[in-house]
Amino acid sequence: MKRIVLLGTLMAAAAASMAAQAPAAPKVIDIVKLKDNLYVLTSSTPGNAATFSGGNVAVFITDGGVTLVDDKLAGWGQAVLDKVKSVSSKPITTIINTHTHGDHTGNNGFFGAGVEIVAQENTKTNMQKMDPFKGEGAKFLPGKTYKDKMSLGSGKDRIDLYYFGNGHTSGDTFVVFPALRVLHTGDMFAWKDGPLCDRGNGGSCVDFPRTLEKAIAAIKNVDTVIPGHSPMQTPKDLQEYQRFTADLLSHATSAMKASQSVDDAVASFKIDKYPGYKNERVKAAMQAVYDELKK
Ligand SMILES: [Zn+2]
Repeated sequence: MKRIVLLGTLMAAAAASMAAQAPAAPKVIDIVKLKDNLYVLTSSTPGNAATFSGGNVAVFITDGGVTLVDDKLAGWGQAVLDKVKSVSSKPITTIINTHTHGDHTGNNGFFGAGVEIVAQENTKTNMQKMDPFKGEGAKFLPGKTYKDKMSLGSGKDRIDLYYFGNGHTSGDTFVVFPALRVLHTGDMFAWKDGPLCDRGNGGSCVDFPRTLEKAIAAIKNVDTVIPGHSPMQTPKDLQEYQRFTADLLSHATSAMKASQSVDDAVASFKIDKYPGYKNERVKAAMQAVYDELKK
């Protein structure tokens, strides 16, 4: 018996030392310059867990300091900070969380309670349910919230925050840098594929196209769109994505009315109309529509 325990201990020690020797995957974040005072820390898609850093982070350099839009997954804070330091010596003063998910809010704690965290009020409520923001972590929740619209800063440093309703979650912010004609959509336009509608956080694939429609109608004078998880896009791409989500919703709704299965609905959905679109998340989006309409 004693021998077995000893053997087990030795094996555990060996496993631990092997784990210690295995090189951690390097934390690589790429940076794209959009303007002299606006950069994007880009995002790999969530598929590869080893290299996935979280969503696209906007780095906006103002007279008073650096504002980040989102701050990637926990564990990537130092890599984010190093990249920010490579383009500005100013301190990070503000972080806007576009929504609750950990790949957009994961380093609020790393950057510390001295940074002002800003989010839509429903996102703060959603974040309060997350372990990193319970107890001591509550000090890294948004200290400033808004309901429909809010501006931060003024003149060339102004940032406009807009909320238009449920979609990816119940608290998605659209962030506009008016002087630069740039919009960050968060995950209301994450990728060219089915939208992820997180119903547990108030998301809705039924409301998604209407919410995007409102955003497109209200936000003018933009040339560049920073999506949640893919390379830079244009307002035309965002308009196409709105049509895609509306098309997906109406297709799923009529398939459900005709008592078709979700698989049948996916099979008859003509995604070829949307060049460059993937079909990896269409089924989940259609399922979300079915689940929502069933209730
Ligand atoms: Zn998300």
